[in-house]
Amino acid sequence: MGSLKIENVKKSFGPVDVLKGIDLDVKDGEFVVFVGPSGCGKSTLLRVIAGLEDASSGRVLIDSQEVTSTPPAKRGIAMVFQTYALYPHLSVRDNMALGLKQAGEPAAEIDKRIGAASAMLSLEPYLKRRPAELSGGQRQRVAIGRAVVREPKLFLFDEPLSNLDAALRVNTRLEIAQLHRRLKATMIYVTHDQVEAMTLADKIVVLNAGRIEQIGAPMELYQSPANEFVAGFIGSPK
Ligand code: ADP
Ligand code: MG
Repeated sequence: MGSLKIENVKKSFGPVDVLKGIDLDVKDGEFVVFVGPSGCGKSTLLRVIAGLEDASSGRVLIDSQEVTSTPPAKRGIAMVFQTYALYPHLSVRDNMALGLKQAGEPAAEIDKRIGAASAMLSLEPYLKRRPAELSGGQRQRVAIGRAVVREPKLFLFDEPLSNLDAALRVNTRLEIAQLHRRLKATMIYVTHDQVEAMTLADKIVVLNAGRIEQIGAPMELYQSPANEFVAGFIGSPK
């Protein structure tokens, strides 16, 4: 299970109101994409869901349980960042194992999960290497594998393809889509790229200056944008 509910979440940094009242429902198994221009609050919203930032007000619920004061490690989420955030001194295998060891998983269970995730993501040849010995695309697959082995209720992706070149972006995007189909997991994915949003999303959330402009299926937004901003962003004239 992995549903998410956000109720009137606001976030300010000092005098700057970054999130101005966000309400959102994500169903178990949905692939939801947050789009919007740089600085509109996408990463901040993801970090509030993850518990890496506290909301200034409002509530976050995962599977109907309020997690507003629950630390990140206890929320059942795993996050994948644009910059991979791998430990450079650890092998690929140890990068994937670390969180599971810290959570007290038995060695046999850790082996099993790493075996399954590395098969799914074609990572078997690289398990003994360090991140510095991998390409950008391989590193991002390791970061995705590290999320998969944790068996989270919610996957959070923050612009995971932004540092990859065009060909790798397409491949990695297809891998993420395939992962979603296989795991039937709930995924929340931030991007400023319309193509990624249109191809991956069950539901797109269009953000602008800390507010939601519109929520809908890709074709719904494309055919019936609520306003000029959404039309401009999704690329169909109103
Ligand atoms: P996006 O991911 O959509 O590009 P962000 O959520 O990163 O946007 O940032 C939204 C706004 O919040 C920006 O104006 C940014 O400068 C500001 N911001 C983000 N994090 C912090 C922080 N820790 N302290 C102060 N301002 C921040
Ligand atoms: Mg961001």
